[in-house]
Amino acid sequence: MQTAYITHPACLRHEMGSGHPESPARIQAIEDQLIASRLYDFLQHHEAPRATYAQLARVHHAAYIREIEAARPVRGLRMLDPDTSMNPYTWEAALRAAGAVVLGTDLVVSGQAENAFCNVRPPGHHASRSGAMGFCIFNNIAVGVAHAMEHHKIERVAIVDFDVHHGNGTEDIFHDDSRVMLCSSFQHPFYPYLGAETASDRMIPAPLPAYTDGRGFRAAVTDRFVPALEDFAPQMVFVSAGFDAHRDDEMSSLRLVEDDYAWVTRRIMEIAAKHAGGRIVSALEGGYALSALGRSAVAHIRVLSGGE
Ligand SMILES: [Zn+2]
Repeated sequence: MQTAYITHPACLRHEMGSGHPESPARIQAIEDQLIASRLYDFLQHHEAPRATYAQLARVHHAAYIREIEAARPVRGLRMLDPDTSMNPYTWEAALRAAGAVVLGTDLVVSGQAENAFCNVRPPGHHASRSGAMGFCIFNNIAVGVAHAMEHHKIERVAIVDFDVHHGNGTEDIFHDDSRVMLCSSFQHPFYPYLGAETASDRMIPAPLPAYTDGRGFRAAVTDRFVPALEDFAPQMVFVSAGFDAHRDDEMSSLRLVEDDYAWVTRRIMEIAAKHAGGRIVSALEGGYALSALGRSAVAHIRVLSGGE
């Protein structure tokens, strides 16, 4: 069996203005490195479908979905928050990005793929039930998690979020859902200035001070995430795969490198193999230093595909 690789051309047409770090070049940087590393040919390629209204409505308020649909500009940009805007193609890209994670879930649960990586944008983990934020419009991972639980009747799902920013939207959506554990590592204190304090024993934060390198990151994963995940015994694992904690990424001050992304992917695969029949669906979140993003995503995908 193969790793499914899911993307869509619409994800290249969503743009938030020249010079915006969350750019279409991010998708291409990953694809270029996949081709250069020869991993590309070993993946099972899929075009992302559109998420349906019903799939989105499992995690977003109906009024919010309608508000985004109505906000589509005919030309130019429409601002949703100070960092996030829509162009005429954003609505389509947002539906495809969420739909990619739904397809990845279907492929992995049905056994058609071993696991899946969704190379999509806009990213999702800052999007809450009723708000766009931090480059995110729909919470792609949350849409996939809800699909796994509601459609496939998966009873316990873990999300590992190693983006440098806390996945506050994902926490907002699943904070009170006993079926979901969220393990989120992030620079702290740092945007969005949330997540370090939580009353839930299923919300597992790993706040990391600025300049933390791979050693500190690995210790947090080993000491906080792994024991919590072992106890929770998820039947499926989702990954909010942001690569903006890389030392070359000027978005943050953490100091991870490609090996750290390969390492955490192996830990996730061990948990998934033990409890979840190996079922993993991963989706791109952040990562803005294009070369480091491409190399880091390939390190992640190479481990997922068993290629090391
Ligand atoms: Zn981020």
